[in-house]
Amino acid sequence: MSTFYDVLVVGAGPAGSSTAHFAAQLGLRVLLLDKAAFPRDKTCGDGLTPRAVRMVAEMGLLETLRAEGYEVRHFAVFAPRGHATRAPIPLLSGVPTTALVVPRRVLDDHLRQRAMASGATFVAPAHVVALAREDGGVVATVEHEGRRAHYRAAMAVIATGASTRLLMQAGVLEKQPKVLVASRTYFAGVRELSDTWMLRFDHAPMPGYGWVFPVAPDVANIGVGYFKEDRHTSAHRAFERFIRAPALRAMLREARQLEPVKGYPLRDDFLTARTWAERILVVGEAAGLVNPLTGEGIDYALESGQIAAQHLHAMISRGDFSAAAHQAYDQALRARFQALFAFCWTVRRWAMHPLVLDALVALANRRTDLRSKLAQVVLGGMPIQGRLTVGRAVRALLKRA
Ligand SMILES: Cc1cc2nc3c(=O)[nH]c(=O)nc-3n(C[C@H](O)[C@H](O)[C@H](O)COP(=O)(O)OP(=O)(O)OC[C@H]3O[C@@H](n4cnc5c(N)ncnc54)[C@H](O)[C@@H]3O)c2cc1C
Repeated sequence: MSTFYDVLVVGAGPAGSSTAHFAAQLGLRVLLLDKAAFPRDKTCGDGLTPRAVRMVAEMGLLETLRAEGYEVRHFAVFAPRGHATRAPIPLLSGVPTTALVVPRRVLDDHLRQRAMASGATFVAPAHVVALAREDGGVVATVEHEGRRAHYRAAMAVIATGASTRLLMQAGVLEKQPKVLVASRTYFAGVRELSDTWMLRFDHAPMPGYGWVFPVAPDVANIGVGYFKEDRHTSAHRAFERFIRAPALRAMLREARQLEPVKGYPLRDDFLTARTWAERILVVGEAAGLVNPLTGEGIDYALESGQIAAQHLHAMISRGDFSAAAHQAYDQALRARFQALFAFCWTVRRWAMHPLVLDALVALANRRTDLRSKLAQVVLGGMPIQGRLTVGRAVRALLKRA
């Protein structure tokens, strides 16, 4: 007779491993499945915002990731015309580190191992091809090298990132959501790197931006994110244009490209995304939790995993698998992220234009209060509370703090 788990989690990225870790810590029997053998790479900018740093600190991984990653203390935003504004990244209270850059091959493996150390069972490669309800729970069908296996649990969590196949199969998604596209690679021997995240709107596609994130004193993750909501758009051409522009050419004069350019889609549709179905909760990017303005989502993936674990614990300990119990999870996610996502969508609509960005960066250079607001936006936060209108935004930006 195979083991019956309390929770089976599909996907061992930040969202799945966070769910598995926090659920196991709460005493649940957790099975974590991933189609990839670990350690595995994930196409990403590798940037951990202060929110993400706070979460890895809570998971007991900060010292390890500081030792294996690269600490970043400043950010710089380059306007389309090339002028820049720079500022320190603020510390979150109680967290000794501002921001980190950690290659995903390293980060995700530590997160997975943390979940296992907390008591979760990890099985990979295990490609989940179907989730079905059955009496008293769910059953996952796993395929590996032509063989099929079945795993059973009271609840399932879908943490499959931008891949939508399982969400469609399980009836969570009905149609393909629109996506963003982004491409990146690594370069060694990069000049002028410092402890700074560079976000560049010069020679980057609009709406979108290019980034230079240091992973070591002379090694950088360099990429381009393109906020064109079109699944067929390739970010590769935008990437080539970005690195051939004068500023990047100077930085890369003696640099060596370490691997091919890789692209991947991003889902940022949390505002309309479904976050549950019967016996299933959805976490991280599978719930559209990627910032519509910056494209970052590791922080929200980790946070949503923690929220899901608390709800799974409540449901399983009470034996309450009603629609209301599932909806309580959705409400908790909306309470945490809805206003932030609405804010970011509004800013994306009115600020992602060369003239606005040129003016904003020039103004931020003259105003510290504006620079700190910009820092909050760049780092995936929200400097204005409540609903954002263009009028409110302009007033908030022009009013001194
Ligand atoms: C180019 C690029 C740059 C980015 N830069 C940043 C950045 O700098 N900072 C940041 O915070 N975010 C960044 N993001 C976003 C970030 O990568 C995602 O938000 C984050 O990975 C989401 O985590 P997740 O755990 O939800 O999904 P993922 O990290 O995608 O993990 C999903 C996991 O599910 C597994 N899986 C999928 N389907 C199945 C299945 N059927 N069966 C079993 N396993 C399955 C996959 O193998 C994978 O391990 C970037 C994204 C891109 C594309």
